[in-house]
Amino acid sequence: MNGVGFCGEGSSIRIARAALHQWEEPVISGVRGSGAIFFTGCNLKCIFCQNAAISEKGSGREITPEALADMFFFLKEQGAHNINLVTPTHFAPGICEAINIAKGKGFDLPFIYNSSGYESVETLKTLEGLIDVYLPDFKYLDEKKATAYSCACDYPEIAKAAIAEMYRQVGKPVIVNEAVNAEAQTPESSADGGNATEEVFLIKKGLIVRHLVLPLGVKNACRVIDYLAETYGDDIYISIMNQYTPLYNIPGALREEQIKRLEAYKELQRKVTGLEYDRVLQHVLDLGLENVFIQEDDASGEMYIPDWNL
Ligand code: SF4
Repeated sequence: MNGVGFCGEGSSIRIARAALHQWEEPVISGVRGSGAIFFTGCNLKCIFCQNAAISEKGSGREITPEALADMFFFLKEQGAHNINLVTPTHFAPGICEAINIAKGKGFDLPFIYNSSGYESVETLKTLEGLIDVYLPDFKYLDEKKATAYSCACDYPEIAKAAIAEMYRQVGKPVIVNEAVNAEAQTPESSADGGNATEEVFLIKKGLIVRHLVLPLGVKNACRVIDYLAETYGDDIYISIMNQYTPLYNIPGALREEQIKRLEAYKELQRKVTGLEYDRVLQHVLDLGLENVFIQEDDASGEMYIPDWNL
């Protein structure tokens, strides 16, 4: 690695995990899972980060664009419905190269760009035509929270511009109903007539904006939802997430510096209450939005945080 940026990484791509992932929105996970590739490092420094082992602690291994392209094919063979690039922003040039290599060899699964929403429009323009589905967070419209929790007072304006560019590129969602095999199609299963098929709705193009509801975060969540509803209506999907897991008391989950920062924000040391999440959902209902994903009552927990050992 030569120089290291704010993200903690150099110019070489590093990844911490590549595997089928079931815990995304149903139009992404389908029945066999999304081919998720988690990149090491991050261009934000959220104190509540659930993936601190890779965003802050740097777990991961270096990989070339050629090897990354091979990994796309490997995940397809495993049965992935799509390739889900998680926290990709700081490696955008190498990822573009890998996608171009894969497409040059006939790769045909949709590419999903799963990011924090803190992106420059300039970087996003380099992805035009390569990314099929954008899956950004929209964490805050409250600048004070953006500053306190993510050290990014300009997050609201940056995320608004990024989401507008993403929408310009991919437009309204395209979701298709497909009959797919519940397991990956192997030469053996093809020979004996294949596995049983299931009907599944899968996204092929479009924009899903995620908002993770935080403790004491109802007002901020409602502001984000209002903005998205007024700007895009049902031309995008909104995913309201209830999986905030406080890592404060989990030994080894955070670095000393993160623990110190968290001490000032007692609210982040607990889960979101059912009442808080219900108030956000009621707001969505009041707005009459239809294209919304919500999560089950208790979607938080350490068990949803995977191993990062590649
Ligand atoms: S943007 Fe996501 S991965 Fe990055 S620090 Fe924040 S929570 Fe962690």
